[in-house]
Amino acid sequence: MMHFDSSIRLFDQAKRLMPGGVSSPVRAISPYPFYTARAIGPYLWDCDGNRFIDYCLAYGPMILGHRHPAIREAVSDQMDRGWLYGTPSELEVRLAERVSSLYPSMERLRFVSSGTEATMAAIRVARGSTGRDMIIKIEGGFHGAHDSVLVKAGSGATTLGIPDSRGVPRDATKNTIQVPYNDPAALEEVLERFSGRIACLIMEPVLGNIGPILPDKGYLQTARRLTEKNDVLLIFDEVITGFRLSLGGAQELFGIKPDLTTLGKIIGGGFPIGVFGGRADLMDQVAPGGAIYQAGTYNGSPASLAAGLATLDVMEKEDTINKLNRSGESMRLALKDMVEDLGQDWSVVGIASMFKVFFGPEPHNYAQALRCDRQGYFEFFRRMLDSGIFLTPSQYETDFISAAHNQDVIETTLEAFRSCLKS
Ligand code: PMP
Repeated sequence: MMHFDSSIRLFDQAKRLMPGGVSSPVRAISPYPFYTARAIGPYLWDCDGNRFIDYCLAYGPMILGHRHPAIREAVSDQMDRGWLYGTPSELEVRLAERVSSLYPSMERLRFVSSGTEATMAAIRVARGSTGRDMIIKIEGGFHGAHDSVLVKAGSGATTLGIPDSRGVPRDATKNTIQVPYNDPAALEEVLERFSGRIACLIMEPVLGNIGPILPDKGYLQTARRLTEKNDVLLIFDEVITGFRLSLGGAQELFGIKPDLTTLGKIIGGGFPIGVFGGRADLMDQVAPGGAIYQAGTYNGSPASLAAGLATLDVMEKEDTINKLNRSGESMRLALKDMVEDLGQDWSVVGIASMFKVFFGPEPHNYAQALRCDRQGYFEFFRRMLDSGIFLTPSQYETDFISAAHNQDVIETTLEAFRSCLKS
């Protein structure tokens, strides 16, 4: 039986110091979170000495597993040369080259410090370059915690029942229109109704913050065709899917060329990063070349760039994506068998190295996802945690597999799934 005495004590102290005791809402796992002391490969150890196999993986970035030696070395080498310059450095040129060649749609790009900043800037580019204020977003899509996208937002916002945050002025969201995912007719209707007034459609190509929820066949292609026809820019938010579905992201996998793209997570190797980029004619309007302003003290932070470059090197050399896709596929197949044997209406959904057990039929949009048994999921999550498996704590977050999850680790995980799903 695990004990969590130190974590409980820390959480008690934290609650007096920080809202909800945490630095980011999803971490406030009820009745108390475990406090991580160290992490290696597929494992986290908490401050009470409990070990967990990690499928949360910091919500996506740790695709090579924790404390990967190549990343550690790259960052440590960078430390020897200093860690913040306030001037350009060669690292950003090298990483920009790599990203742009993997994402040909990103003819120009800029490094920022988080996915939130990346989507905020991409939307600003869309608005600034078109001179229009309205944007379309997908219900349940999460693009970070900034004003214009905190409407029917997924991730922690939905988990906590606050998809529309207080403190966001009505004026900041009145130009955000929502459409359901996988519903081309609704998209077409909105594009026509507000013709000439919409700057962009921003979407996660695979909904990762309420799922994974997969695109119906042809949906993404239709979204591209409709936006183009209506002269509306398409932003793919690939903060989760980038370097995960393939090195070139969902846009490579599904063969779609968005006008603008946002990246984050994996490309920082676990260090803070975001990237926004796209068509040269749009990005060239960003300051200092143009009048769309974006700036940041930590933009292009050397440690993040060094970690990102090292991550790409390892992923290319070790064919990480293909290996992970095979692990993902066999994990999902094994889970599907289990769920089927139990005769429940649960579903196992995923793509590449993303997966989730939904306590309900496979959802195809936000409304359907909300019908799943989230409380049942949470009880299941706690049981898995007691068995040493750390899944994402919410029904509405994706589980990830890393390159450090070998066959043994996955077998151990499946054993736990077997007994916890049953009970
Ligand atoms: N976009 C998507 C698709 C995300 O999943 C997230 C974070 N989960 C963000 C943007 C925001 O990124 P960050 O947390 O780095 O600000």
